Parts: sequence; C-alpha cells; structure tokens
Amino acid sequence: MFQPVSGFELPRFAGVPTFMRLPHIGLEDEALNDVQIGLIGAPWDGGTTNRPGPRHGPRQLRDMSTMIRAQNAATSIRPFEMVNCADLGDVGPNPASVDDSLSRMTAFYDKVLAAGIVPLTAGGDHLCSLPILRSIAKKHGPVGMIHFDSHTDLYESYFGGMQYTHGTPFRRAVEEGLLDPKRVVQIGIRGTAYDWEDRAFADSVGIRIIAIEEFFERGVPDVMREAKAIAGQGATYVSYDIDFVDPAFAPGTGTPEVGGPTSYQALQVARMLDGVNIVGADLVEVSPPFDQSGGTAFLGVSIMFEMLCNMAMCVSEK
Ligand code: MN
Ligand code: MN
Repeated sequence: MFQPVSGFELPRFAGVPTFMRLPHIGLEDEALNDVQIGLIGAPWDGGTTNRPGPRHGPRQLRDMSTMIRAQNAATSIRPFEMVNCADLGDVGPNPASVDDSLSRMTAFYDKVLAAGIVPLTAGGDHLCSLPILRSIAKKHGPVGMIHFDSHTDLYESYFGGMQYTHGTPFRRAVEEGLLDPKRVVQIGIRGTAYDWEDRAFADSVGIRIIAIEEFFERGVPDVMREAKAIAGQGATYVSYDIDFVDPAFAPGTGTPEVGGPTSYQALQVARMLDGVNIVGADLVEVSPPFDQSGGTAFLGVSIMFEMLCNMAMCVSEK
C-alpha cells in the first residue's frame, strides 16, 4: 500500500509537499495501475468572472495538506490503509485558451478513468468540473451529483454569449447529458442574485435546490438524508465549492457570500456522504491570493480528507 510520510518520521514542514504526503505517481508510471484513488491538481481559473486566483489553489492546498494525518478522528476511518491513494500531479492547462484547457483536462481524466482510478480533484475554479464530468460520463453515463456551493453555477451565459465560465458548468453538463438532473441536489445556495434564470432552469429539469434558509432550518443530518436519497445508489459525483462555507471561515475565494455554514458544518456535510456511490469528487475555488492565513486552504484539504474517507469506504466495498 502507498503510505503517506508520517509526521513522526519527518516533520510536516519538511520534504516535497504532495497531497497528504502521498507518493507522486505520474500518468506514465507503471505503478499507476495500482492506484485506486488519485488526488489531482487542476491549476486553472480561466472560467473566473470576478476575483481570480484558484490557478494557485493546488500548490497551496498541497502545502496545507501536509497537516493531514492518517486517521479520521470522528469516524476512525484510515483511508490510506484501505485503498491505494496517490498524488497524480497536475493537469497542465493552457492559461491562454479556455477551449484548449477543457480538452487537455478531459484527455487527462480519460487516462485516469481508463486506469480504473477514482479522481479527487483540487481546483481550480468551478469550470474545472465540466471537463471532468465529460470523462466521467463517458465511463458511467449520466451521473447524479451532490453539489455544495453558494451559487447554482447553472447560468446560460455571461458577457453576451460566453458559455464556458465558472457560473455555467452545470448548465452545460445537463445540456450535454453528463448529469441526470433528477439525481442532482445543490446545497447552500444564497446571496444576491442576477435574476431567477438559473433557478427556473433547475425547476424545469428537476434539479433540487436546498437554499441556505432551508439548510439552517432543517439542520445538517436531515438535509444530508434527503441529498443521499436524491442521489440514490447510482454513480454520483460530489462537487464542493469552498464558497459554500461562510467567508468568516473561508475568506480565500473569489465570490464569497455571507450567511453560510461554519467550518464544522462544512466538514460535517462531507462526513455524511457515507454510503454514496462516489465516482469522483472535487474541491474548487480556493484562491490563495485572498487567503492570507492559509486557513481557507487548510479547511479545503480537511474537506478533501472527509470526502476521501467516504470514497475509500466506497471503493473498498466494490
Ligand atoms: Mn461554484
Ligand atoms: Mn460558488
């Protein structure tokens, strides 16, 4: 089994910072065939419409992930002893071209999925989810999705017909048949809105939106029970925008919205993904230039670890 470097052996501030101190395995390495869950960086923010910076996310997330230890303190899950996890490196984007970056990402994830690896991605802005879903749907068909965000990312277009931004990925994913909208739930939606065009689209295709008012009224366990019922037992993608979390806890992001969940609730929702048939997951929109303390990135990798624990349970049961 691939094991992370322990803080008992080498201090956490020393060494090359791979995700969670796991071995780095490139797509051309022979050992790729032994990897079951691959942690991947997508350093690209070509879809950003407001404050940029998530292209620097994977570096900062890797650095803060050296704080992650081997055992989940709440569930006792030790994911690295259940399945082979590795850092597969970064997708090389083309910062000068949205179209080329989308193609490069899908080509990368096609290889990952062909090797039988379940991807856990660190973004990047939320447009990164679209090329990943294109690869995932090739293998699994239209998937369900549990999506944490303060925004629906379901808009038709920006700036006069621009269809590929971080505000549009899931509109495209539904149109392209990558998502089964009746198995999609969006949790935490809030903030001032342009209009209801995105929500009208969600209603028209059967996407369930759990806005922040309902989230706080019902509480995490009840909301997550419904989310898991909507996703069902079919193949499901988990997409986690760090701006789901209140900016008091996660200020390092481009489009923050106040009145959100605490860092504890942010971990709790990810922990309660147990039993979901997760075929891929991402954590996006961490923007290091706005994350002076590194605390947003640390919360981001802590959420990734909670998702990884449930992914390891899921993969080991297959
Ligand atoms: Mn988003
Ligand atoms: Mn968002």
